[in-house]
Amino acid sequence: MKPMTGAEVRQSFLDFFAERGHTIVPSASLVPTRDPTLLFTNAGMNQFKDVFLGVGTRPYTRAVDTQKVMRVSGKHNDLDDVGRDTTHHTFFEMLGNWSFGDYYKQEAIRWAWELLTEEWGLDKDRIWATVFKDEQAELETDEDAKGFWLSETEIPPEQVLYAGRKFNFWQMADTGPCGPCSEIHYDRGPSACVCQDDPGHECRVNGDCGRFTEIWNLVFIQYNQHEDGDLEPLPDKHIDTGAGFERLLAILQGVDSNYKTDLFMPLIRRVQGMVGHDDDQVEEHMVAYRVIADHARAVTFLIGDGVLPGSEGRGYVCRMILRRAVRFGRELGLSDPFMTEVAETVIEMMGHHFPELVNRRSFILKTIKAEEDRFLRTLDVGLERLDALMAEVEEAGKRELPGDQVFQLYDTFGLPVEITRDVAEEYDFSIDEAGYREALEEQRRRARAAGAFEMDDEEALARYQGVLLDLQERGVLGDHGVEQDPYRALSVETQIAAVLQKGHQIRELGPGDEVELVIPDTCFYVESGGQVSDTGVITAVPKSGEEPDWQVRVRDVREPVAGLLLHVGEVEKGTPAVGDRARASVHRGRRMDIARNHTATHLLQRALRHVLGDHVQQAGSLVAPLRLRFDFTHPDMLTREELDRVTHEVNEAILANYEVASSEQPYRQAVQQGVIALFGEKYGESVRVLRVGPGDRPFSRELCGGTHVEETGTIGSFHVISQESVGAGIRRIEAVTGRGAIDYVEERLDLIRRVAGQLGVPPSDLAQRVEHLQEELDGAEKEIHQLEQRLAREAFEDLLGDVEPVDGVAVVAARVEAPNVDALREMTDWFRDRLESGVFVLGTVMDGRPALVASVTPDVVERGADAVGIVRALGRMIGGGGGGRPTMAQAGGSNADGLDEALSKAARILQEQLEGS
Ligand SMILES: [Zn+2]
Ligand SMILES: [Zn+2]
Repeated sequence: MKPMTGAEVRQSFLDFFAERGHTIVPSASLVPTRDPTLLFTNAGMNQFKDVFLGVGTRPYTRAVDTQKVMRVSGKHNDLDDVGRDTTHHTFFEMLGNWSFGDYYKQEAIRWAWELLTEEWGLDKDRIWATVFKDEQAELETDEDAKGFWLSETEIPPEQVLYAGRKFNFWQMADTGPCGPCSEIHYDRGPSACVCQDDPGHECRVNGDCGRFTEIWNLVFIQYNQHEDGDLEPLPDKHIDTGAGFERLLAILQGVDSNYKTDLFMPLIRRVQGMVGHDDDQVEEHMVAYRVIADHARAVTFLIGDGVLPGSEGRGYVCRMILRRAVRFGRELGLSDPFMTEVAETVIEMMGHHFPELVNRRSFILKTIKAEEDRFLRTLDVGLERLDALMAEVEEAGKRELPGDQVFQLYDTFGLPVEITRDVAEEYDFSIDEAGYREALEEQRRRARAAGAFEMDDEEALARYQGVLLDLQERGVLGDHGVEQDPYRALSVETQIAAVLQKGHQIRELGPGDEVELVIPDTCFYVESGGQVSDTGVITAVPKSGEEPDWQVRVRDVREPVAGLLLHVGEVEKGTPAVGDRARASVHRGRRMDIARNHTATHLLQRALRHVLGDHVQQAGSLVAPLRLRFDFTHPDMLTREELDRVTHEVNEAILANYEVASSEQPYRQAVQQGVIALFGEKYGESVRVLRVGPGDRPFSRELCGGTHVEETGTIGSFHVISQESVGAGIRRIEAVTGRGAIDYVEERLDLIRRVAGQLGVPPSDLAQRVEHLQEELDGAEKEIHQLEQRLAREAFEDLLGDVEPVDGVAVVAARVEAPNVDALREMTDWFRDRLESGVFVLGTVMDGRPALVASVTPDVVERGADAVGIVRALGRMIGGGGGGRPTMAQAGGSNADGLDEALSKAARILQEQLEGS
C-alpha cells in the first residue's frame, strides 16, 4: 500500500477528531498574541493557555488543530542540532486534540490507539505506552491511565510501563495547571539502535538509542499547583495532546529521517536542481541540504506571520535563520540568491492548509529576496574576515575567537553569531561566548540610552497575573477577565475592581499620583492592530446633587496579561478606592479622530490596490488621532500622478458616504471569501469582518477589530502629507483626515496668503508672479556677471601700466578682485594675449581665504622660470601650498594678511629662478 502523503496524514488527523465532535481550529500565529513572556508560539497549548488558567472560554469543549511552532531560543534551543541530525527543526507542526472539561483519559487513550492502529495501520506490537509513577512516592500513581490502556486498547500488557517526573509529569510553569501524562512510543526495531556495539546495552523506552521514538504525548490536566507546593484537584479536568507531525510522518512513511518525508524532499530536490549535484553528492552534503530545507520553511512561515528580518527579538531570529541558510547555500556553491525559489516550493506544498502563505505570497518572496540580496553584499567579506581572524588566533597559539571580534563580524558584516559559531566549529575553534554577550549588551545599553523600548519585567507580569486570578476567584471579574466593548457606548457606569501601581495594590494615594485602575467592564479601546489606545476620564459617581469626589485622567490603556486591562493615568482629585461606583468615559473627539483615520486606512489600502495592483500588501500601520501611517509593499516610489489617483479615489469613497458595517464570521469562511487578513490582529475561531460599502458590492472587506465611523462621509476629507521608503520594497504613506485634514489645508492656505501678501499680489497670481521674479533674478545675475567682467577688464588695463621688466621679462604681480579661481586664470590669459611673453601672478581673497594664480609663457619657461615653483614659494607666505604645470599653477591658503607681501616677492623669486638656471 502506498503510504499517505503528509497532507493526507494532516487532514486525516483533523477529520478523525472532527468526526468525534471536535471543532477544527486554525493554527494560531507564530507570534503569540498578548503573551509577552513568549518569543514565539512554541507549543500547541499556547493559544489555549487562558482556558487552562481558567480565565478564558471557547464556544466549544473539544478542539483539534495543527499548530505552527518555532523553537529557537530560551530553553528550547535546538538550533545547533538542526541539520546535524534527522529529527530537530526550528519550525514544525504540532498536532493536538483538546478537551476543555469534557472527555478525559478513557476517550483520549482509546482514540489515540484507534487512530494509530486502525486509521493509520501502525503495527500494534510496536506501540509502547508509559504512565506516571512518582519516583519520590509523593504523587498518586496514574493507575487510571494504565487501566484504560489495558481495557480500551489491544496493546500488549507488558508494553505499558511506568515512568517518573522527568518524562511523565507535565507543568505549565512552577505554579498553575499540571498533571500526569501518558507517552506513546514506537519501536523502530533493533536495527535502528545506534548503541548496538556498546557492551551490556539494553534497548528500552526513553533509552535514547534511537530505537524507540516518542510519537504522541497525552497530557491529563487535573491539578492546580499552588505556590506552597499544594496540589489542588481542578474542578474541570482537561486533555492536551501533542504529536510532532514531522516525526510521526517519518514513521508512517517508513523512512529513517524526517527529512526524507514528502514534507522536506521536494525542498531538497529543488536545491539539488539548482546546485546540480547527483544523489551521492547530496548525501555527502546532507547537513547543508537539511539546514536549507528547514530554514526555508521557518523563514517562509515567519514572514507569513508578519515577522520581518531585523536586528532585535523575533526580527533577529528571522534574519539569522535566513542568513544561516544562505551561508550553507554558499557551501554548496550557490552564489546567487536562491532562497525565494525554495520558499516558493514551501508555499506550493503548504499553502493549501495555511492560506496565509498564499495570501502573502509576493510579500514573503520579496522580503526574502531583499534580505538575501543585502546579506550577499557582505557575506564574502565577512567570511574572509572570519578566516583571517581564525588565522590570527591560531598564530597566537589559541583556539578561542575573542567575543568583541565575533560581535564586530555581526555588527559590521552582518554575520550572526550563530553562523560564526557554525564555521568556527567546523574548523575546531570555539567562541568566547561571555565576551560576545558582553559586547552585545554594551551595544544594547547604548541603544536603550538612546530611548529604545524595554519590555515589562517578568516579576511585574507575575504580579499582574496574580491580580487577575485573585479578581476572578473573588468573582469580581468573569472568565474572560475585563469585559471589553469599545464598539457601542463611549461611557459606562461600573465600579472600581482594583487600584494598582505597577501591579501593587495601593490604598493611599492622592492628586498627582500615577495609578492603574481596573474596572470589570470598559468601553476603552486597548492598543491593537495599529490603532492606539483611547484616553478619557474615570470619575466617582456622586450621590445626587453632589460633586464627584474623585477623578482620574486616563492617558493610556494597557493589557499586560490577557484579560487584565489597566486604565493608566493620574489622579486629578480625591482618592479612588476599590468598590467605588465610577463612570468611565472615553474622550469622544479624540476617538472620532481615530475612527476617521482607521476607516480611511481601509479606504487607502483598497485604493492602493486599485491603482498599483494586487501585490500591495500591508506591512505595518499606525492609527492615531492626528494622522495615519500605512506601510505597504511596492517596489518603487509612487509618482505624483499615482499619489493623486490614490488620493482622489479615497476622497471619492468618502463622498459616496458608504455605510461601514461589521459582522462576526468563522475565520475560514472569511479567508475563503478573500477578506484581507492584516498582521497583528488576533484571529480566534470567529473574526470581525469590517465592510465598507454595500453588502453585494463592497468597496473593501477586511478583518479588523478596530473602531470605525458609521458612514465614510464622516471622514470629511483625506490628504497624503508624505511618502517615504522604509526598507527594501516597502513604502510608507502618512495622511490626515477630518480635523487633521482641515488644519492641514488651512495651514497651507495661510502660507499661500502670507506669501502672496509679501509679494503684493492676489493668491491667484502667485505662480505668475514667482515666474516673473525668477526671470528678474536670472536677468540680474547675468547683469552682475557682466559688470564683474567689466570691472576686471578695467583693473587689467590699469595693471598694464605697472608692468616691470625683470631681466628683460615682463612681470605683473598684483592683487585683483575676482569671484573665483577660474576668473583669476582668465585674467592671466588676458595678459598673455596682450603681452605675448612674461610672468603674470594674480592674487585675490575670496570669503576670507587667499588664492594665487601664476602664468608663465613658454619662452620664459625655456629661460628657467617655473609657475609651480613660484606658487609654492608664495603659497607658504599665505599659509598654504599649491601646484600645477610650469606654465600655469595655483595656490590657496588660510592667511589672507600675507597675500600682499607674497605678491611683492614674486619678482624676486622669478629673478632667482632665472639666475639659478
Ligand atoms: Zn538500543
Ligand atoms: Zn482595521
